[in-house]
Amino acid sequence: MKIKPHWQILLALALATVTGLLFRNLAASGGQAGGFVDGVVSFSADVGKLFLNLLKMIIVPLIVSSVISGITSLHGMKGFGRLLGKTAGFYALTSLLAICLGLVLVNVIQPGLTNGEPNEKIRMAFENHKESSADEAALKTVQEAKLVGEEQGGIVKQLTGFFVRMVPTNVFAAAMDNGQMLGLIFFSLLFAIAMTRLPLQQVSPLRDAFVALNDVMILMTQWIMALAPIGVYALILPVVYKTGGDIFQALFKYFATVLLALGLHLFVVMPLVIKVLAGVNPLDHFKAMRTALLTAFSTASSSATLPVTMRCVQDNAGVSKSTASFTIPLGATVNMDGTALYECVAVIFVAQVMGFDMSMAAQFMVVISALLTSVGVAGIPSASLVAIMIILTSSKIPGAETAVVALLAVDRLLDMARTAVNVFGDSCAALVIAKSEGEKVLQG
Ligand code: ASP
Repeated sequence: MKIKPHWQILLALALATVTGLLFRNLAASGGQAGGFVDGVVSFSADVGKLFLNLLKMIIVPLIVSSVISGITSLHGMKGFGRLLGKTAGFYALTSLLAICLGLVLVNVIQPGLTNGEPNEKIRMAFENHKESSADEAALKTVQEAKLVGEEQGGIVKQLTGFFVRMVPTNVFAAAMDNGQMLGLIFFSLLFAIAMTRLPLQQVSPLRDAFVALNDVMILMTQWIMALAPIGVYALILPVVYKTGGDIFQALFKYFATVLLALGLHLFVVMPLVIKVLAGVNPLDHFKAMRTALLTAFSTASSSATLPVTMRCVQDNAGVSKSTASFTIPLGATVNMDGTALYECVAVIFVAQVMGFDMSMAAQFMVVISALLTSVGVAGIPSASLVAIMIILTSSKIPGAETAVVALLAVDRLLDMARTAVNVFGDSCAALVIAKSEGEKVLQG
């Protein structure tokens, strides 16, 4: 009997959790077991990295071939402007919905306060953590982000800088920069549009080559996905093993707030959006996307999940290649509902802990900043912490550095959850746009 891929991944997740917890107990009991457990966990982390590398390895040829073969199949490109407008509108609307949901919950639950007062315990936990933190790289990233935040107009500059980078001076350099896919997408789009403007006979060998390249990439994606259960197990085991400690207890209410907000967006808001705008049964869409959602959750990277998202959206949800190849790569880079929501909750939470009073106007600025910065956040693990640091400093909230270093340390679980929300948002965009273009999605 063959177990379906998503069940295999779920099983891997469950097994990794059980083993991780077992290892924690073993290590805590001391003795020789500790050394053995550490060895296995570090081996597991390497295997996980191997799986991630495999996924990342195919991103560049996959993006180029799918964007070019997808767009050149859009006859004459007449509807391109309309497609772009609709997609951007959908991204902005759903990100705003997510941020507002986060804003309401963090103000109602107030995870940073106890009895209306700033929570001292959390502030102490932040400070203790920073003192014991030996993660130099994290400290450096946080300090760099702080400088951007302190700059006048830092957030807007971040965003404009992002769009400037969208047009790379060297397309090969852009392809080599892992976090920066936008330059590559831009080049591929322009290239494809130029192809549609030339006589078909002239470009058809080139087009056939890209279509064939895309077919090869699809097959390679399938091979890599066959390894997903092993990859997921290997990625999750170290996470479960290392998670824990005082800081987690102190942040319990914060975790609950973020997860509740993400859960409501994923399971209530977005299903309503696709029901209303695309008229599809949300359950069917969840079913279509389950492998991508589990991969996003396990890898905490929308970019690494991109090959899987592409497959699920086309093969299971029935979105056409041309719509998917436009909305999915773009979405993986600029559309991040979960990240935008998280930025808003995290900033207001830190303000609460630090006893910093946020006026309505200041909170409004946080909403706008979260929307703008989420566009520039790369689809890699923990990328949004940089944006949070920038918003905290530009909002003049004290203790930003201490807080972000601590949040970074406990980020993984929340990152996994928000990445799944990010990927689901992209898939909903593809579905709604496809439906509005008259495609028959999610049928049979
Ligand atoms: N890990 C997220 C993603 O890849 C980005 C973030 O919020 O840190 O979508």
